[in-house]
Amino acid sequence: MPELKRDPIRGIWVSVAPARKGRPHEGRDRGFVCPFCPGNEALTPPEIERVAEGEGWRVRVVPNKYPILPTHEVIIDSPEHNADLNTLTEGHLNLLVEVWSRRIKAHRDRKYVLLFRNYGHGAGASIVHPHTQLVAMDVVPEVVLKEASALTGEGCLLCGGYGVRVLEYGGYAVTVPEVQTLPYEVWIHPLRHEREFNPQPPFGRLLASVVGVLKGEFGVRDYNLVLHQAPKGYDYHWHLEVLPRMGRFAGFELGTGMRVIHYPPQEFVGRFAGIIATYVKGRT
Ligand SMILES: [Zn+2]
Ligand SMILES: [Zn+2]
Ligand SMILES: [Zn+2]
Repeated sequence: MPELKRDPIRGIWVSVAPARKGRPHEGRDRGFVCPFCPGNEALTPPEIERVAEGEGWRVRVVPNKYPILPTHEVIIDSPEHNADLNTLTEGHLNLLVEVWSRRIKAHRDRKYVLLFRNYGHGAGASIVHPHTQLVAMDVVPEVVLKEASALTGEGCLLCGGYGVRVLEYGGYAVTVPEVQTLPYEVWIHPLRHEREFNPQPPFGRLLASVVGVLKGEFGVRDYNLVLHQAPKGYDYHWHLEVLPRMGRFAGFELGTGMRVIHYPPQEFVGRFAGIIATYVKGRT
């Protein structure tokens, strides 16, 4: 089983998980068989839950066969191997985000639950088939603690109009952070101060639209999603970070923890804001 260790000089938590090196890699392994495609269910560990459709399924949840930490689940977003959020139907999206939320709540007793999604090899996905992952842990990540102090109570920055709010739609906002830390970074969050991820239907549509616009208009091929919500016992304003991966981190980023953006942020805001509203409304 993987084990968490913390380096005393840098304070960085590291999961020591040697079994991960055995995981399958689509596009690299010869004779790769997708464990997430219908018909190959026996290739995953026994199912935690499924949203059934006739004999088949629309969404499946299974333990990760190669866990980063002992509680590591994989949510197989769709039976379709080449789907992505922006190609799923509205009904499917709503159902999917409901599963995400239900799985997070199932681990409410843990200190922190991270839901994340890797799409594309450049974002660390080893399998193309669309899937989302959840890791529950007994420490609160540093970045979440930092955010918690800025997203608490009366002084909550997200409530106070942080960044550029490019769209408000059905109780949610699409916000470009005050300082983007990755190219084309965008957040989606509720307008109201909510500590726990509790998505209502327009959320799925917004998410699919943001992904669709970034892929269609900005040339994004790989991206991560990171859901930040309240650690146990903390206040928070939950938000989903959409993190395009246009390049790798190199020596400067590793040596300083700083980041580099290759365009003027106001240019992105202008262009993105001009497209996203029409895209959301036009999505069927
Ligand atoms: Zn597949
Ligand atoms: Zn707030
Ligand atoms: Zn965050």
